[in-house]
Amino acid sequence: MRLRWGRSDMPSRDYRAPLDGVPRYTRWEQVPKGWYTRTQLARMDPPRKPGPDAKPRGQVLYHGNSYAPLYALDDTVTKRPVSPAQRAALDRARELQRVCRLCDGCETDEYGDPVPLGKGRVCGPCERVRRNYVLHLDSREFARVLREGLRAGTAVLAAVDNPARPQRLVMTGSALRLDVRLPSPNDPPPSGSPAAREKQAQETFASITRRLAGAGLPTDGMLTVICWQDAALIRRNLAGAFHLPQPSGWLAEHTWYSLDVWYGRWYAAPAKGVLDPLRFSHDWGVNPTDVGGDLADRVHALGLALDAMADDHPDTVSPGAPWITRPAAISDLHAQQRSR
Ligand SMILES: [Zn+2]
Repeated sequence: MRLRWGRSDMPSRDYRAPLDGVPRYTRWEQVPKGWYTRTQLARMDPPRKPGPDAKPRGQVLYHGNSYAPLYALDDTVTKRPVSPAQRAALDRARELQRVCRLCDGCETDEYGDPVPLGKGRVCGPCERVRRNYVLHLDSREFARVLREGLRAGTAVLAAVDNPARPQRLVMTGSALRLDVRLPSPNDPPPSGSPAAREKQAQETFASITRRLAGAGLPTDGMLTVICWQDAALIRRNLAGAFHLPQPSGWLAEHTWYSLDVWYGRWYAAPAKGVLDPLRFSHDWGVNPTDVGGDLADRVHALGLALDAMADDHPDTVSPGAPWITRPAAISDLHAQQRSR
């Protein structure tokens, strides 16, 4: 939302603080004869203005809180008259400042008058669209880095049946298909003792580590693990399931990534279907990996989501994404993208 000043409480546009070192007059009748403000000079016939080196001789209070500099008539020169062509050009320039260079739209104040748009000449809605588009591009970049890791054999896709209490783990990589049932506290222990159960859990961890190594994947903290959500939670609870005193080996480092928020930014579905760019917020509930069915299907869907982000075909994002509903806002960025 943009805050706007009501007209009555708008600070005077030409407010001027008092100058130092010259006399101040609080009433017009105090101003010495032959001294004039810029406004008074401009209204003379022919119009005048302070000369190039003119210094104010004094200042007079106006609008109750501003001081206007006063110039001696001797320090002023005749203003060169503005030709009709120059006037038209100036009017056009002023008008242009109020037209968005991207969508040709205007922002208006509460009276319907177009307001100046500032330096970049981009309107508020276009600005918001561009910010969301930048998030989209960041997410695409993130997905490309992750996919590069998958292809280079330094990353895997992973999912568990239940992040809070994982009992099954699926991991896939370029040369890996791993589907492991994890030891559960409810399992009948092979020999009945907690120590035996712990040993069995740690053996499962060691066998997964061997499988990773066999597929040429790093088994230390250099392994990148891509989950849909709750990567930190899954990592912690897996360590618990394996009875590891602390996460170690391929569970050791924070190279576990959750894709869900990145996907949400990339896909950019509008929350509650609100298309107005100024009120747009991301719908974080979008989940292409929520395919039901088997855990292996979910991991497969995770890979497809990553591919979609990295390949970034325009038709694969939400039809309500801000830059889709308002393409003009990124028209100049698009040109740069395509030329890459
Ligand atoms: Zn615009």
